[in-house]
Amino acid sequence: MEKTRLIDVHCHLSDPSFEEDRDLVVKRATDIGVVAIVSNSENLKDAVEVIRLSEKYKGIVFAAIGVHPTNLLTCNESFEKIREFIVSNSKKIVAIGEVGLDYFYGKEDKEREVMKLFLKGFAKLSKELDLPIIVHSRSAGKYAIEIMKEMEVKKVILHAFDGKASFATQAMKYGYFFSIPPSIVRSQQKRKLVKAVKLENLLLESDAPVLSPDPKTRNEPKNVIISAQEISKIKEVSLEEVAEKTTQNASRLFNFDLEW
Ligand SMILES: [Zn+2]
Repeated sequence: MEKTRLIDVHCHLSDPSFEEDRDLVVKRATDIGVVAIVSNSENLKDAVEVIRLSEKYKGIVFAAIGVHPTNLLTCNESFEKIREFIVSNSKKIVAIGEVGLDYFYGKEDKEREVMKLFLKGFAKLSKELDLPIIVHSRSAGKYAIEIMKEMEVKKVILHAFDGKASFATQAMKYGYFFSIPPSIVRSQQKRKLVKAVKLENLLLESDAPVLSPDPKTRNEPKNVIISAQEISKIKEVSLEEVAEKTTQNASRLFNFDLEW
């Protein structure tokens, strides 16, 4: 029988917690059928490392470059500098990410304004470069969707979406995608989300090293199979169908030229 093929659209392989055994982590993922891992950066220094890893694990690890909203407030990087970095590396990356809004971390209006301004800039860049945008929207799902709509972005991934299923249903109409982390096994909200969103709009992610099925352990890209199993149960379709569909969705979105 053919092996199930899976794609992890969002993780952080550059995280120091993978320093000791990164080769094994990648191998464990490919061993269970993961054919592509999109590693996301949290800041510009991290972006250099993410690109290096995408070159080291060529054909398996792909780079997404962005600055995480919680870093924007402290890094003092101008949007222009980040933009230039992304543009000059645009041939080496498959997406802009991780970017977005974090209203749990940024509670002040002033902080939220900064995040929104940057997200609009990243949205514009996503269109200019024709690259998908991977959006973090902690406690800000509704606002992130509004910005994507207002900016008329076409290729949108809402990762680990924590908003209401009704916002997700709306976003689905705009053609946006939702990537589901393994922490779904301990999240009623994520289960509701999967119920509300069609398989055509779902993707798998690990968000490793965080969002593990067990919050006390380090997460790994191989755990996207746990997301797939849970989706298969909720949607009452086979694991193979979930794998095939989410892999197809991701391949189209990222323009992966994977051999099937
Ligand atoms: Zn992340």
